[in-house]
Amino acid sequence: MPELPEVETTRRGIEPSISGRRISGWQLRQPRLRWPVELPDRLRGERVHRVLRRAKYLILEIDSGALIVHLGMSGSLQLTNVGAPAGRHDHVDLEFDGRRALRLTDPRRFGSIHYHEGDWRTHWLIRGLGVEPLDAAFSGAHLHSVSRGRRVAVKLLLMDAAVVVGVGNIYANESLFRAGIRPRHAAGRIPLDRYAALAESVRVVLREAIDQGGTTLRDFVDESGRRGYFSQSLNVYGREGLPCYRCGSVLKGLRLGQRATVYCPNCQR
Ligand SMILES: [Zn+2]
Repeated sequence: MPELPEVETTRRGIEPSISGRRISGWQLRQPRLRWPVELPDRLRGERVHRVLRRAKYLILEIDSGALIVHLGMSGSLQLTNVGAPAGRHDHVDLEFDGRRALRLTDPRRFGSIHYHEGDWRTHWLIRGLGVEPLDAAFSGAHLHSVSRGRRVAVKLLLMDAAVVVGVGNIYANESLFRAGIRPRHAAGRIPLDRYAALAESVRVVLREAIDQGGTTLRDFVDESGRRGYFSQSLNVYGREGLPCYRCGSVLKGLRLGQRATVYCPNCQR
């Protein structure tokens, strides 16, 4: 599933090619994605001002509003030429200046595209989202204040999109390892200084993933149809029963909220 770093990497990959371009048309081969795709005629001729990311949504700001794109479980975006032959999972092409096209490929069809008139921040998919993990608003103080009086496991708090967006399972596991905090620890009992370390760890882990994604995306944009995957080295995720890289202890596994959770019983307290 595309996680925040992949979406941010995609944003950086497509923005230089479509920012400032005019939408000249589109090919909508399969409108039945997670929600029905409806692209109004008025989009034709509108210019893309910039491409932003909010949580795992890509926001194409255009003259009258925005296109809000989500990659779902299996979606990817690729730059191609108008008229390039389409495969069976190439559901939508957005065409720019009659030359280049942004193609959404999505075998499982959990992705989505919405047109929103006006300020995209008020769209129903966007307005209830928590803070961005790479924004200054995401801090130890934020995690500390939202967790007071709560017994929920800290890992689940970290994965709650109303608290902070885009911290998927892999990144929650890795951030907790880096901060030395046990995933099952009651969120309300963790002091401010440890939350400061956790917030910093989340940022470091996500930035590393974005930096590494940047190298795979160049291949992915230039070649046709091939997806880039992150080769980020993981300390705990997927390593249950193996020795901790830092101390050699055997890593333990458990399930929290149905998600695989791995931690070092020695390094994480
Ligand atoms: Zn360890």
